[in-house]
Amino acid sequence: MKLNELTIAGLRKLLDDREVKSREVLDAVYKRIDDIEGTVKSYITVTKDAAYRAAEDAEKAIRANKASPLTGIPVAIKDNMCTKGILTTCASKILDNFVPPYESTVTARLGGQKYLLTGKTNMDEFAMGSSTENSGFHTTRNPWNTECVPGGSSGGSAAAVAADECIAALGSDTGGSIRQPASFCGIVGLKPTYGRVSRYGLVAFASSLDQIGPLTKNVTDAAIMLNVIAGHDPLDSTSAPVEAPDFTRALGREIKGLRIGIPREYFVEGMDKDVEEAVHGAIKRLESLGAVPVEVSLPHTGYAVAAYYILATSEASSNLARYDGVKYGFRAAGKDLLEMYMNTRAQGFGAEVKRRIMLGTYALSAGYYDAYYKKAQQVRTLIKQDFDNAFSTVDVLVTPTAPSAAFRIGEKTTDPLQMYLSDIFTISINLAGVPAISIPCGFSKAGLPIGLQLIGKHFDEETVMKTAYAYEQSTEWHARRPGL
Ligand code: GLN
Repeated sequence: MKLNELTIAGLRKLLDDREVKSREVLDAVYKRIDDIEGTVKSYITVTKDAAYRAAEDAEKAIRANKASPLTGIPVAIKDNMCTKGILTTCASKILDNFVPPYESTVTARLGGQKYLLTGKTNMDEFAMGSSTENSGFHTTRNPWNTECVPGGSSGGSAAAVAADECIAALGSDTGGSIRQPASFCGIVGLKPTYGRVSRYGLVAFASSLDQIGPLTKNVTDAAIMLNVIAGHDPLDSTSAPVEAPDFTRALGREIKGLRIGIPREYFVEGMDKDVEEAVHGAIKRLESLGAVPVEVSLPHTGYAVAAYYILATSEASSNLARYDGVKYGFRAAGKDLLEMYMNTRAQGFGAEVKRRIMLGTYALSAGYYDAYYKKAQQVRTLIKQDFDNAFSTVDVLVTPTAPSAAFRIGEKTTDPLQMYLSDIFTISINLAGVPAISIPCGFSKAGLPIGLQLIGKHFDEETVMKTAYAYEQSTEWHARRPGL
């Protein structure tokens, strides 16, 4: 196996035992990037020189026996997390020259461990999308089939991990943007509980839904990453003052007698046969490990996509008001201030971002507020109550991550509603604020990965992760790699 194909846990041992140097791991990663990045296009910015400089520092710490779990590990970061002195574009032309003067909390924490930033990954513009086709720069390709999308919006991070162009990555998830690309690319993606991870320095899309989380090659690595990024941060008023446990300690715990809820509304007539088979197989497997399946109902599931697209667009319309060409980012010419504003936003934002700003501004406007925004907030409460009710009888919920495997590039670009529906199984989780993971659970007939979603109670990532780990240990899916 090449060094770039290893996991965080695998490399940690080799690095600490002085069998390899972090510089050699970087050599393998950048060789891979040189070889395939022209095809896969995971990255917007590659930070090679800085990574080699950081590797020297990491080596010093390792030689002094002062290594932390991520010391000397190459990690890619989605391009909506601020990295001081490094271009951070959100895949938008309106930020194509934005170099943040400050560091996000998550990357600061990784930096504190002397991780190696490989680069900033591609995404749908401002994280709005499910395929990376809304990137203002280029579309990332799925390493399993380069005619297909990698999912989105964290498609660049997912593809980079799946293609071994980094060891692990961070993404963000507002309605599925970590889990759906993880599912499409055959890797592990975790959306923590809302408030578990600081959003300080994450460029806001929909602040009440956004969460940062890891994209990794296995569940152990997800736990290692979560250990580093989780925990209260006074710089984010929505970060919860909740103690973060050592998540790796949950791995290997018994799942005998664990009650796994199967929500009726997620298994409907007409669902994709390959997905249905893979997920049913996974439920059987969990049962054979001692878990007890229980049918449950989340009755308001059918309203989730509609409520999400009112709330997320409303928050986006407010959050994106700051891009006016004055303080930072792209600025277009104009004969006066108003015309400069208008030209900047007209030229700087892509079509999907404009569509959402218009939808959200409409939903928030006087006279419509009660009919749309307020109604959607009420529906959100009902959806959260659905989860509270289900979790009064079960420990974890099991569903597909996405209704299908990866779709073809261009297949859904002309039909926004079809694109929105690819998050039908992930959106409710963000509305409720609960944690969920996607792990590989099979392949479609066409050879594309399928993801299993495990959903937990608020701040109970441990049950989610121990279940995911037990399943992963008893299967081979996560070990398969794309033959690029
Ligand atoms: N695909 C969903 C959207 O377009 C979710 C995106 C996300 O989680 N950032 O809004």
